[in-house]
Amino acid sequence: MADTAKTAKLTVAKHRSNLEALRDDVTERLARLEVAYDELATTGDDVGAGDDEGGSEGDGAAVERDRIRSLIAEEQLTLEAITAAEERSQTRGWQQCVVCDGPIGVERLDALPTADRCVTCKARQSW
Ligand SMILES: [Zn+2]
Repeated sequence: MADTAKTAKLTVAKHRSNLEALRDDVTERLARLEVAYDELATTGDDVGAGDDEGGSEGDGAAVERDRIRSLIAEEQLTLEAITAAEERSQTRGWQQCVVCDGPIGVERLDALPTADRCVTCKARQSW
């Protein structure tokens, strides 16, 4: 309640509730995306049969479907990250970077509950 001072502390309870809120968000987005995907899948195909040899590319629905599918894949990755973060929150090292064991940083964890490494290690990681 009296949360006037800028809290430099993140409790594990707060962290978990952040994760829960994030999971709710992602689950909801995922559900919407899946509905949109299904709608496209049913309205999008005309003459179902016949092998398409990548010929029906002019079909905007196919492009949209691909886009939605990659969004779904992204959200699923986020869900996995949330699950991993929840598991970490059961351990004493929940605020520690998985790479260097240093602190991830309260503000960073608060803003990004799925973060599993500190800024330095994150920056070093090249995709
Ligand atoms: Zn680190």
